[in-house]
Amino acid sequence: MINLSEKKLRLTMALRSQAILSSPILSAIETIPREKFIASALRHHAYENASLPIACGQTISQPFIVAKMTEALDVKSRHIVLEIGTGSGYQASILSLLVRRVYSIERHRPLFVEARNRFLELKLTNITIRLGDGFSGWPEVSPFDRIIITCQVESVPFELIKQLKPDGIIIAPLGPPGKEFLTKVTKKGDVIHTEKLISVRFVPMIPGIADV
Ligand code: SAH
Repeated sequence: MINLSEKKLRLTMALRSQAILSSPILSAIETIPREKFIASALRHHAYENASLPIACGQTISQPFIVAKMTEALDVKSRHIVLEIGTGSGYQASILSLLVRRVYSIERHRPLFVEARNRFLELKLTNITIRLGDGFSGWPEVSPFDRIIITCQVESVPFELIKQLKPDGIIIAPLGPPGKEFLTKVTKKGDVIHTEKLISVRFVPMIPGIADV
């Protein structure tokens, strides 16, 4: 029987072997209890480097992808970050240990409610979430230093580009479904620069709220 700290150690070693070398990110992954973001029947898989199903037909991303996206965001402790697609809340929790405040939007009410309860239980008080449509962003609290989209979308919605600070970074799985690439989008004045990172698979970004 392998204990929790051993499982965590194995996961961070696996991430290191995949060239995730940032100590703050690796220690955030060791600190946040991933088992709390997963249904009890799947908890024994919590520290495997794999994506897992969550409610509403959605998924919690693979730890490697969470780490890779976090690294590519290049966050600073003073940053305000917007996440589109709260899902389980795991990615937002990792970010919350690294930045000033995380705003996160989810379109499925059950996921939104569960994630809000997890943040309360884990006392992650610098995460604010709302039930909403990520295509509209969160204009009232914009602009953001960084934006992370955790669902596949053809291109970055214009509203989100508008809500990004000058010199900001957006990390998103961009492209047609099944052919998306993790992409780094930077805004320098009016010029948008994009850089493809790695091929990934994400659930799609869908307009509107699923309020059931
Ligand atoms: N970041 C999550 C993984 C999310 S899976 C985690 O750490 O667990 C992608 C999520 O994006 C799903 O929960 C899905 O419901 C949500 N989503 C899809 N389209 C959306 C939209 N238009 N606005 C907000 N959330 C959306």
